[in-house]
Amino acid sequence: MKRLPLYWKIIIGMIAGIVFAILMLQVNNGVQFIVNWIKPFGTIFINLLKLIAVPLILASLIKGISDLKDISKLSKMGFRTIGFYLFTTVFAVSLGLLIANFIKPGNAVSEDTRTEMLATYGQDVEKQKEQAQQQKQTGPLKFVEDIVPDNIFNAATSNSRMLQVIFFALFLGISMILLPEKNTKPFKDFFDSTNDIILKMIDIIMMAAPFGVFALIAALVAESPSVELFKALGIYALTVVLGLSILLFIFYPLLVYLFTGRNPIKFLKQISAAQLLAFSTSSSAATLPVTMEVAEKNVGVDNEVTSFVLPIGATINMDGTSLYQAVAAIFIAQAFGMDLTLGAQLGIILTATLASIGSAAVPGAGMVMLIIVLTQAGIPEAGLALIFAVDRPLDMLRTAANVTSDCSIATIIAKSLGKLEAR
Ligand code: ASP
Repeated sequence: MKRLPLYWKIIIGMIAGIVFAILMLQVNNGVQFIVNWIKPFGTIFINLLKLIAVPLILASLIKGISDLKDISKLSKMGFRTIGFYLFTTVFAVSLGLLIANFIKPGNAVSEDTRTEMLATYGQDVEKQKEQAQQQKQTGPLKFVEDIVPDNIFNAATSNSRMLQVIFFALFLGISMILLPEKNTKPFKDFFDSTNDIILKMIDIIMMAAPFGVFALIAALVAESPSVELFKALGIYALTVVLGLSILLFIFYPLLVYLFTGRNPIKFLKQISAAQLLAFSTSSSAATLPVTMEVAEKNVGVDNEVTSFVLPIGATINMDGTSLYQAVAAIFIAQAFGMDLTLGAQLGIILTATLASIGSAAVPGAGMVMLIIVLTQAGIPEAGLALIFAVDRPLDMLRTAANVTSDCSIATIIAKSLGKLEAR
């Protein structure tokens, strides 16, 4: 029998998780059972993926860069990558603004709903505000300052300092290129071999993916808030979903087609395991090992490109997040009866782009950074309470968009450098 492709197994895991949770919701203590006995397996699965992220970035980036053997190749790839990442993010925010202005989801929120939401989620907003405050109380160059670690072992102890690890690996890789090969060979062999071992570890973890996804989705359904709240926020949620769907199913496939000539449907199928995992885990960082694997094995992007473009993309390229921040900002402004001027909206393009770059690749990070966008545009931060209830499902979808963007750009860069194998 032909083996079922991974994305099918993941889809089956998801559906089984939903059905299981719905059944358990009918049983006494069903939710408790899921929380106590099922959810931990989802957490273990995410931990395994995160566990591999830092060693993977180190090994693959060092291997990838030292394989380049030439600094000019690296700078060419670097400029193209950053250029594409910025372009797609600005496009995504603008699209978000456009559809939110057109659909006007905030106008559908009644006075009662607004008061109810503010009362229910007001406290949660305080916590988010504190986190955002820490980010805000820093100078304009703090972001750049933070990229350079003062101790690599310290940097490698936290997944939230991934950019520092990337910086170290880049620095090390570049220094290796500058030295004669005989001096670096033993070190390079070590990292080549480490890279192979880590890839095997990812293969093993992925065998558990359908079960991990089952546990994650079951816990999510069991713990989700009441359907009533979803209804009140329906138009807002649909606006975000519409924008993300345009990115996912039209914009990226079109970009890939235009720049590489690849069949868009085939491309989406090739990366679907990473998209589904991004959807289930809500974390681009946790999905990174799989994003790299599908881009190399299924799409045919050379390891030299994936090892550079994808870790950076997972940390800074978040189109889905930026689109969501634009829609959410407009929605909250409308719900409070505010009229945003063109100037304020253009300001949102800038802040949402920067806020998405600054968002960590973990669940809910985009919402924390949204506070900065709101403050800058003069929209009440308390409005965050309005969108709390539906944030998780939207987070799942925007993470899928974030990962799709990374894969698409890696494919385009690979093609432009002659590093895309036919598949
Ligand atoms: N969860 C998103 C990611 O990891 C970030 C966000 O929008 O919250 O890509």
